[in-house]
Amino acid sequence: MDLGIAGKRALVSASSKGLGLGCAEALAEAGVDLIMTARGSEALEASAAAIRAAHGVEVVTLACDVTTQEGQAQVIEAAAGVDILVTNAGGPPPGMWSDWDRDDFIKALDANMLAPIAFMKALLPGMMDKGWGRVVNITSQSVRAPIGVLGLSNAARTGLTGYVAGTARQVAGKGVTINNLLPGIHATDRAVSLDTGVSTQQGITMAEAKAAREATIPAGRYGTRQEFGAACAFMCSQHAGFMVGQNILLDGGATNITM
Ligand code: NAP
Repeated sequence: MDLGIAGKRALVSASSKGLGLGCAEALAEAGVDLIMTARGSEALEASAAAIRAAHGVEVVTLACDVTTQEGQAQVIEAAAGVDILVTNAGGPPPGMWSDWDRDDFIKALDANMLAPIAFMKALLPGMMDKGWGRVVNITSQSVRAPIGVLGLSNAARTGLTGYVAGTARQVAGKGVTINNLLPGIHATDRAVSLDTGVSTQQGITMAEAKAAREATIPAGRYGTRQEFGAACAFMCSQHAGFMVGQNILLDGGATNITM
């Protein structure tokens, strides 16, 4: 399918690896020029070079922390006038409800709620002026059904979801859509880190931790960044103009809900 977005420009934050990289690759395959960010420059430059070589699009890289105001200011300057925004950042660490204090919540809010909101606030006006824009926020299945050990993620991402629900309806009339893409478990470094926690805590091997988690997923496996990126690119396409304020779950059926 021609996604109809060749020649557009996208910011994909936190995109040197994992799900953000999957989104960047799929947008590049559709002919979209990119601004990619990550804190570490090595993986960022390697991923950008691979995308340029594979798809012939322009890729600008910015090594910075998108959870800080300085990082956000750099990214916003470089991304002025983008047509497409995909927000992402690392996820908060797991733990128990009794572990977390104010600082932990502020860090989670900065990463998984306030950074995406800052990017939207800065970049939505340019999209609205042009009469076309797409925003996809990478959130989590924990927005639909809580994951106990990810209380920081449950809290921060649900706040973002509430913000998007209202804002999406305020900008839709200008041809700009905002939606959220909710990953269940995908085979990325984040999944390795979650499995490492389970393996250490329960005294089992990594393979056993992964097999136990796979057994909870009706699809019987982890998702791939390519599958995730393809869904994201569709949500950024010309064909998705009537999708407004939605939360699209990609979890292999793991969240046991009807709607
Ligand atoms: P990942 O494989 O660990 O990749 C994270 C990417 O984001 C890397 O490129 C990393 O590069 C970059 N990054 C992290 N923190 C950043 C920051 N503060 N500023 C700029 N770049 C940053 O993670 P993932 O699996 O793709 O997950 C992406 C998001 O989806 C996370 O919020 C995660 O919690 C959520 N999620 C993932 C899963 C899953 O199964 N994978 C499931 C549910 C939710 P640097 O480290 O160099 O900065």
